[in-house]
Amino acid sequence: VPPVSPSRTARSETLFARARAVTPGGVNSPVRAFRSVGGTPRFIAEAHGAYLTDADGQRYLDYIGSWGPMILGHDHPAIREAIGEALAGGTSFGAPGEREVQLAETVTRLTGAERVRFVNSGTEATMSALRLARGYTGRDFIVKFRGNYHGHADGLLVEAGSGLMTNAEGNLGAAAPSSAGVPAAYAALTLVLDYNDPAALDQLIQERGPDIAAVIFEPVVGNAGVLLPTPDFLAALHRVQAAGVLLIADEVMTGFRLSLNGATGLLSLNPDLRCWGKIIGGGLPVGAYGGRAEVMDFVSPQGPVYQAGTLSGNPLAMAAGLATLRELEADPGLYRRLDAYTAELAAGLSAAAAAAGVPLSINRVGSMLTAFFQEAPHGSIQTYGDAARSDTAAFAAWFQGLLARGVYWAPSQFESIFVSAAHGPDELGATLDAATAAFGGMQP
Ligand code: PMP
Repeated sequence: VPPVSPSRTARSETLFARARAVTPGGVNSPVRAFRSVGGTPRFIAEAHGAYLTDADGQRYLDYIGSWGPMILGHDHPAIREAIGEALAGGTSFGAPGEREVQLAETVTRLTGAERVRFVNSGTEATMSALRLARGYTGRDFIVKFRGNYHGHADGLLVEAGSGLMTNAEGNLGAAAPSSAGVPAAYAALTLVLDYNDPAALDQLIQERGPDIAAVIFEPVVGNAGVLLPTPDFLAALHRVQAAGVLLIADEVMTGFRLSLNGATGLLSLNPDLRCWGKIIGGGLPVGAYGGRAEVMDFVSPQGPVYQAGTLSGNPLAMAAGLATLRELEADPGLYRRLDAYTAELAAGLSAAAAAAGVPLSINRVGSMLTAFFQEAPHGSIQTYGDAARSDTAAFAAWFQGLLARGVYWAPSQFESIFVSAAHGPDELGATLDAATAAFGGMQP
């Protein structure tokens, strides 16, 4: 069923006003506020399959997928059933249970990580993995890449892309840090390089290797918009391991999205540690980090690196994650279908933009895609600096054109969209119709 044309926002406006009176900016995560695209953020009442329904009863074709977790579509029957079954047994124990073991067994089997520890968000996963890397190596410095986002732990809010790139008031523009409230002393331990610059990475490791605990990276970037790593860059990343520097792949976005073994599987990576979030919790709050036993066994109570959580391994969250991974494993054609849909979406967007004379450069891998509003060959945008050259006003106009036609794109130029298994030929056709009209309606 094609979405209705959304024109009513009265209930969302009322809710947004109430929310602003009691919550900073009216939202619990910044990009949801529509700051960079303008207009009223839609308050969502429910979601099923590929569609969101807002408080005014308007229906939208969803390309956010809760920012990644909903790879099977919303309200999937197997996930609902698994959560219901867990719910009947109580919601939290504060003691270990079988579902945690099952999910850990599944994750280690699918990813080759020898040990995994569950936490409650991607932020906790990266924060904990870095503490572990520091504890294991006895070194203090970490390296990250400009425009990569690894959650909001203090030392990681340095040139952090994503919402910080989107909301100008959150980006102080300086080299470090990119949020108020992060002590310069913390930020000073975070060394920042350009993504896809292997020479700079080699040089830094040569000069400061013995001080560096870890290099953390998004193996496919989603948080400066989609950026793909070059083969030379991936090779340089693996060279850091020879200097005793741990390589941490942040697969919070890519894990179980690009393949059953994430970007690590797709790109044949060999990281020491990996971080997961989003899909691993099937829409409930779960994060995880894992890797080689020798390193992971430094985590308490086995080792000296402390990390804990009242709700970690929560039975409802474990049930949702387990059911999601089971569904993904049970459908061997799924990743190929997601890839085919998203490839057709990219081709259709490219053709429609060209016909309307709108400069557009698309980066895509599997079911992740960003359409950058700038004149550049498709696939040529490789760094934060490249992405930042995009025309954000043009993006905002197009976003509003899509939203007015019932297609809910990610409300920022610097985010990936996420296609789900519930997106089929009808959704593809409706999206390309809406996109074509939205390109046509833009000021030349
Ligand atoms: N790492 C990456 C690559 C992410 O995309 C995100 C969230 N978008 C995070 C970490 C943080 O995860 P969370 O929002 O669950 O804390």
